[in-house]
Amino acid sequence: MIIAIDGPAGSGKSTVAKLVAKRRGFAFLDTGAMYRTLTLACLRAGVDVGRAGDVIAEARSHTAGFERSTSGDFEPTLDGENVAREIRTPEVDAAVSSVAAIPEVREILVAAQRDFAKGHDVVAEGRDIGTVVFPKAEVKVYLDADPAERARRRAIQAAGGDAATGADPGVSAEAEAEVLAALEARDERDRTREASPLAMAEDATLVDTTNLTLDETVEIVCALADMVALSGDVTREERKERADAKAAAAGRVARAAFPKERDKTPYDETLKPMRPFRNDFDDYYDHAIADYPLPTRLLYELIGWGVFCVTKLAWPWTFEDDDEFFEWLKAQDRGTVVIMNHVSMIEPVVTVTHFWRKGLRLRAIYKAEFNRFTFMHWVFTRIGCIPVSRGTSDLKALRRAQHALERGENILIYPEGTRVRHEGDEVETMGGFALIARMAKTGVTPMAVVGARKDTAKGAPALRRRHSFIKIGEAITFGALGVKGRKAQLEAMEVKAMERMWALRDELRKEHPGEE
Ligand code: C5P
Repeated sequence: MIIAIDGPAGSGKSTVAKLVAKRRGFAFLDTGAMYRTLTLACLRAGVDVGRAGDVIAEARSHTAGFERSTSGDFEPTLDGENVAREIRTPEVDAAVSSVAAIPEVREILVAAQRDFAKGHDVVAEGRDIGTVVFPKAEVKVYLDADPAERARRRAIQAAGGDAATGADPGVSAEAEAEVLAALEARDERDRTREASPLAMAEDATLVDTTNLTLDETVEIVCALADMVALSGDVTREERKERADAKAAAAGRVARAAFPKERDKTPYDETLKPMRPFRNDFDDYYDHAIADYPLPTRLLYELIGWGVFCVTKLAWPWTFEDDDEFFEWLKAQDRGTVVIMNHVSMIEPVVTVTHFWRKGLRLRAIYKAEFNRFTFMHWVFTRIGCIPVSRGTSDLKALRRAQHALERGENILIYPEGTRVRHEGDEVETMGGFALIARMAKTGVTPMAVVGARKDTAKGAPALRRRHSFIKIGEAITFGALGVKGRKAQLEAMEVKAMERMWALRDELRKEHPGEE
């Protein structure tokens, strides 16, 4: 496998690539070091790097290579002499991009780079790895960061510190400004040169490291490599086997991070895979939760466990006789539309969490008005909720819910309030559950809750321990309604499902007297 990491100076390429290589036991190829080594040869020979012919002659008469140090690092050599320190001087910095701009020089070094990778798994970093040197690399990452942040990292490095570990010997603002100017000049030359300019490959994943720690960045690159390893040119069985082995090795979190095949969406052309960070809100609504980027899936797990523990302690809940239901649901090839009476904000939280504990995904439909609260919007997005706008015919939301159901995810709707009877009608509240189920060719599962209302009633002590009880009815299919025609079916489903939901609630009230 080849992992290609490109990006401008100071974006963290070398450090990240080195660590990824170590973790995965890959060889590390620092192509920038090769251009630097050749630049050093020119400087030593007194060659003017502006004279291409002289530089090419140097390139032909020297060898830029690597040797393994005792600690296993790949260190740069010039004709066999270790030049790890000599190539990191301001003189080399200033001259290297002129040397690297000469096409014949690049030809010689690119051939050497491809040779290096023969028969190895390699993490290679540079400016043209994904575009020119290894266009078929299995993993392509483009690391970037704000110029000021990149200059800060480089300035600390030049003063003998390390921004990644926080070892900062104290760099003056002037020194940083100087580094920034030099770095921007070098970037500009690298970006605008004719031969293999610095550019992001079309199929590369952009990772902005401005606000990421080194560990987080390494984690992302490794996760990308894992995903490729899992979805490579292998049979479904092999892929599943690998995912299972991996999950077993990495424990519970990884198992959830690589969920069952059936939750996976095959991407259509218009739906691009999500990036590790900086996705649009829409991306979260349109993708399967299983296709969310690794950091989000880990956050989902974290939220799941947090909510599970807090609610179990403060507001314990019981789903009555649910084993059969979940067994049935897992055997279906599409999800179900869950409807529920709404007594407090506790039950949506515990219901989604309960499904998660059962290894299933439940996506709640909520009023888009909540998106006014930025934090709520952010969190809802990460846990797969889908907003619906009231007062407009929000066909987009209906379609999103339909696609989720078709992928095997489940949808949670609180239908109390105005209903939507026909596609295209105004979606007034959380209605439309029958329509969504019909669009996805699935059924509606009524559920009911009692007990939670008192937990959040005005005047109730915030942490008073109250139990809620939830009952799950049998899913109602359109076929079982016994009516023909789309309109009649939708109406019959709405009536029947709501009736079942109220009936379940009444049963619960009887079983738990005094609970609402
Ligand atoms: O990565 P590093 O800063 O060590 O690279 C030094 C220089 O080498 C870059 O500024 C660029 O001009 C050149 N380079 C290149 N192509 C690569 C790697 C480095 O042109 N693949």
